Amino acid sequence: MLKFKCPFRKSCVTEGRFLGWWAKSEKLTGRLTRTKKMYGSLPPLFTFGVIADIQYADIEDGFNFKHTRKRYYRNSLRLLRRANEKWKSEAVQPRFIIQLGDVIDGYNKKYDASERALETVVNELDKSAIEVHHVWGNHEFYNFSRDDLMMSALNSKTVDGTMAEDAVQSCSVSDTEESYAYHFSPAPYFRFVVLDAYDLSIIGRKEPSTRYYEALEMLQAHNDNDDLNHPPVAEGLEQRFVKFNGGFSQGQLDWLDRLLTLSDEKLEKVVVVSHLPVHPYSTDPICLAWNYDRVLSILHSHKSVVCFMAGHDHDGGYYRDASGVHHLTFEGVIETPPESEAFGTVYVYEDRMALKGNGRVSDRVLPYP
Ligand SMILES: [Zn+2]
Repeated sequence: MLKFKCPFRKSCVTEGRFLGWWAKSEKLTGRLTRTKKMYGSLPPLFTFGVIADIQYADIEDGFNFKHTRKRYYRNSLRLLRRANEKWKSEAVQPRFIIQLGDVIDGYNKKYDASERALETVVNELDKSAIEVHHVWGNHEFYNFSRDDLMMSALNSKTVDGTMAEDAVQSCSVSDTEESYAYHFSPAPYFRFVVLDAYDLSIIGRKEPSTRYYEALEMLQAHNDNDDLNHPPVAEGLEQRFVKFNGGFSQGQLDWLDRLLTLSDEKLEKVVVVSHLPVHPYSTDPICLAWNYDRVLSILHSHKSVVCFMAGHDHDGGYYRDASGVHHLTFEGVIETPPESEAFGTVYVYEDRMALKGNGRVSDRVLPYP
């Protein structure tokens, strides 16, 4: 073995120590600068928590449909508890939590355990006393009817008095097929919009209703399989036309457009959330909303939009589009092993948001467009 002999051993040691100290301090300064850059030296205006696809069920671990990912049905409750304890322990508690949908798994229906499972997760969330905004996903509809959901703890729809205009107060349409879509403003100049991605779907709507038939027609125009949960193609964007996805009705799209117009006028920063992602680069295309392109064109026509948050694709994803809108798809709790985590806290500043991820969720700085 070659031995390196240093003619200036002493000075080497000293220099080495100095270099070691310098490297360490540089590393530390770099880390501090990055942390400072990310979270800022000023305190955030407010923070909020995000968690997706808990899919709790009191059953043994299993696998996803393709048998490629393990699902930890009971552990998901433990991970929710750990996330909630973390939020509760923070010096400045999150102002609210966004639960991105699929809070309990469809298996609960099979075991007649839907009510009990929902009560379990709601009790867990209630322990922190932080307000929770619930998004509805496909698993909500595997367990409950839309009418049941409207009456349940998962209905966090609030009437926001800060926008008096009737046009944006609620997302009702004339044919009484109400959408579960609403908005709220947790702080001046900030607005959050909760969208209903199963407004146009054959699991979120029942026969006989206009939207059910409209959804069935749209789905069958692209997918002629007997099992509509089976994608029509093996790859590409057409894969999204499956029964476990859905889309947004014209009424909801018009409402979103009107709401964002008012937000533009009020110089607000807007975060839009939905169970289904709407940008093809932020997700596996099999998880995209059917009419994702319609939502994207609305988001792009309003300068107030900062980011779009979704769940459904348990592997997660991120993409910043050409308009500067951040598309975040959160990693699902259900496919997160017991030793890891899957949740985030977003720190909101005047010029950016900073996501502090835990476990599978990455840290991200989200400058405003
Ligand atoms: Zn889902």
